[in-house]
Amino acid sequence: MSAALLKTLDLAATNPGTYLGQGEWSQSTGAGVLQPLNPTTNEVIAEVQATTEADYETVIARAQEAFKAWRSVPAPRRGEAVRLCGEALRRHKDALGSLVALEMGKSKPEGDGEVQEMIDIADFAVGQSRMLYGYTMHSERPGHRMYEQYQPLGLVGIISAFNFPVAVWSWNAFLAAICGDVCIWKPSNKTPLTALATMKICNAALKEGGFPDIFFLINDAGTALSERLVDDTRVPLISFTGSTQVGRTVAGKVAQRLGRSLLELGGNNAIILDESADLKLAVPGIVFGAVGTAGQRCTTTRRLIVHESIYDNVLATLVKAYKQVEGKIGDPTDAANLMGPLNSRGAVEQFLASIEKAKASGGTVQTGGNAIDRPGNFVLPAIVTGLKNSDEVVQHETFAPILYVMKYATLDEAIDMQNGVPQGLSSSIFTQNLKAAERFLSAAGSDCGIANVNIGTSGAEIGGAFGGEKDTGGGRESGSDAWKVYMRRQTNTINYSDSLPLAQGIKFDL
Ligand code: NAD
Repeated sequence: MSAALLKTLDLAATNPGTYLGQGEWSQSTGAGVLQPLNPTTNEVIAEVQATTEADYETVIARAQEAFKAWRSVPAPRRGEAVRLCGEALRRHKDALGSLVALEMGKSKPEGDGEVQEMIDIADFAVGQSRMLYGYTMHSERPGHRMYEQYQPLGLVGIISAFNFPVAVWSWNAFLAAICGDVCIWKPSNKTPLTALATMKICNAALKEGGFPDIFFLINDAGTALSERLVDDTRVPLISFTGSTQVGRTVAGKVAQRLGRSLLELGGNNAIILDESADLKLAVPGIVFGAVGTAGQRCTTTRRLIVHESIYDNVLATLVKAYKQVEGKIGDPTDAANLMGPLNSRGAVEQFLASIEKAKASGGTVQTGGNAIDRPGNFVLPAIVTGLKNSDEVVQHETFAPILYVMKYATLDEAIDMQNGVPQGLSSSIFTQNLKAAERFLSAAGSDCGIANVNIGTSGAEIGGAFGGEKDTGGGRESGSDAWKVYMRRQTNTINYSDSLPLAQGIKFDL
């Protein structure tokens, strides 16, 4: 199965991991080899050569050359290039979705869904390419016109996480492309094959459409090359998606060189269920949010804050639903399974360590919490009760399916609990009470980048700006006006009069 799939996507047992531009994949070796594992078996799927320092320099030089031309291509024409990428992804959706499932370990429908997100953001970017609007302002000086315009920024370094191995690249790259930028992608070293396949699909589409290279690829067997990219003053924007721990270092380094960073870091997302919550909506929303992608989404539901009057009923219903999921854990490439494995052995160890920590802090495991005795990185998703929101294990993002269920008495208390963690990505309330919903969405409500009513925390649409506050890093990607981060803003004032009046009425008589 995997050999046939690799062939369909033009991948081999050993692959060059550096796209140098001009149709050329590097043949260099010596920088190490990436060996992505199939999380279902922990067997190597195929090998990818990491990027050498010399090839890195070639990529930067060619990307700089490409930018000089690309920045002057009219934006709607740049949109046409992205449209062709979207069309190519439509044709390859099934195969690329299967590779995402194979290499990352998410279920096949979720793998296909991730490719659909790429297609959706391509469509969005095509429209946006005709709407890179700036304001015009009224000048205080007679015979003057003042306006602002957005100009291409330059090279954009995209460092992505393993859990959305292709969509995160497209959220950045398709908007950056219509903005006139050129992208250099450093994918997660756990998922280089999906990156290679994506690059081949999109670059073939660009070539066929007569467009130049605007998407480059590097791979790093360790972290040295990634750090070099982060430190590189020739790359004005680093878009980093990953853990808060690594993101904090990246942010510091980019700030040190006065570069721009876009940070999409960890979450610790909560759902509040008030006494009026419609459980027909809430229960599937909670279960999908907590166990979907085996708890490996940045927006995964990790905390459930339940009104004390419905707590016992909700807990019993959830435990029953988890037992149903347990029967559908298995090979993610089999569309019948609802939950696949964790991506790595290390993730299983972190899951088990957090369960032990939860027990040591006085928590009770209501269901799951074990590794499954079979090849691969399979675990039983856990529900833990009896902990306080302030307990260290609850405050921390464990990137695995553990749901901490807690009780509350008043809405103020629930909102304080929801906000009382270092992260600020996604949040939601299930309620039929208008006042409670509006209070949750008010300035005194959720402090997260995403706040939903009667929808779970996970599964955002591309049309909105995506990202979060506090330890989540403050970045916004995808829809709304997120495109602005990929451009530099310029204010222009034009004097069409015969005199030179100074601003603020200043006189300077010569
Ligand atoms: P990670 O931080 O381990 O790795 C992220 C990326 O950084 C990878 O490409 C990795 O190779 C690279 N990297 C590692 N060390 C580096 C260094 N010193 N300098 C530069 N780059 C370095 O994260 P992960 O395990 O791949 O992903 C899971 C994390 O990502 C979770 O915390 C999750 O919440 C977060 N995430 C956030 C979002 C979001 O939009 N907020 C989306 C997806 C994932």
